[in-house]
Amino acid sequence: PVLRVAIMGLGSYGTRVAEAMQSCKRAKLVGVISGTPSKVSDWQKKYNIPEKNCYNYDNFDLIKDNPDIDAVYVITPNSLHHDQVIRVAKAGKHAICEKPMGINAKEAQEMIDACKQANVKLLVGYRMHFEANTLEIIRMRKAGDFGKIMFFQGLCGFRIGDPTQWRLNKQLAGGGSMMDIGIYAINGARYLIGEEPIWVTAQETKTDHVKFKEGVDETIQFQLGFPSGAVASCLSTYNMNYLDRFFLNGEKGFAELNPSTGYGPIKGRTNKGELNIPHVTHQTVQMEEMAGIILDGKSPVVPVDGEEALKDSKIIDAIYLATKTNQKVPLKI
Ligand code: NAD
Repeated sequence: PVLRVAIMGLGSYGTRVAEAMQSCKRAKLVGVISGTPSKVSDWQKKYNIPEKNCYNYDNFDLIKDNPDIDAVYVITPNSLHHDQVIRVAKAGKHAICEKPMGINAKEAQEMIDACKQANVKLLVGYRMHFEANTLEIIRMRKAGDFGKIMFFQGLCGFRIGDPTQWRLNKQLAGGGSMMDIGIYAINGARYLIGEEPIWVTAQETKTDHVKFKEGVDETIQFQLGFPSGAVASCLSTYNMNYLDRFFLNGEKGFAELNPSTGYGPIKGRTNKGELNIPHVTHQTVQMEEMAGIILDGKSPVVPVDGEEALKDSKIIDAIYLATKTNQKVPLKI
């Protein structure tokens, strides 16, 4: 069988996912949910989507009566994910949700509960969790190639443009760079070290109070402590370019991903040399793997379910708290 997917939110990332899905064998774009009729008709023509599989934000609950759609992929601004995923679950469809899944741990938990109650799967668009260089470094770490892991560094950022975009609007973004790009460093620390953090410290700096309003973080440096004693030191920013690098250091070796989370090609390197793994479009691999998870009950090496996203949300909540209190925040995740 093939996973029949409707995309909600036909913006820039939705478009990228739709294009990438054209190369999938097991996932197929069959429907759209959008508030913009002109986009719907463009997508209908381009992807041969029947009228009966097109919905808007008012009527998409009716998708429950549509047997030709299995899953809805929510690719809208961050703060809309919570209500939209819950409506998808109530309509009895599997939900795939973009990161950040919710804008805090409370929202994330509610999304998990709604999907459980509706007996549908909840997956999060963590495309790096399927990326081959990343998985090879995780395999090597598990095999002991790097020895005891001591340190991770994650640098994630870009200089954001248009000050009027939703990413700089607290109501729609739920925060700033941390919600959008810093979350990759949190992920990276967790899957490369292979443990869950037990404390966090964080420092926020803001150079532009006009562009980055109250509640929209421009730059945050944060540190995570892990049970083994390993530590992570990370930077999340909307105000610097050329930051897309992970570095993992162990007693017997190191690994570097540089770039680490861009659309690719990702470049992996260890103390033994370059990984030289051929590039495959991340979203194609992701959707192919997600079809396997939903249709065959496959378990990915690095989880992409709601519980995984809840852990990230708890860490983000703790980072924001630490920036306000300047205290070390203990974590239980
Ligand atoms: P975008 O602005 O390009 O697209 C957002 C879409 O949502 C637009 O089509 C817009 O019309 C629609 N929308 C619906 N309701 C809206 C409302 N009330 N206000 C504003 N827009 C509304 O944004 P994007 O870059 O496509 O990001 C969408 C989501 O995808 C975000 O959660 C983002 O974090 C995520 N994303 C993930 C990745 C990744 O690599 N996994 C990359 C980019 C974006």
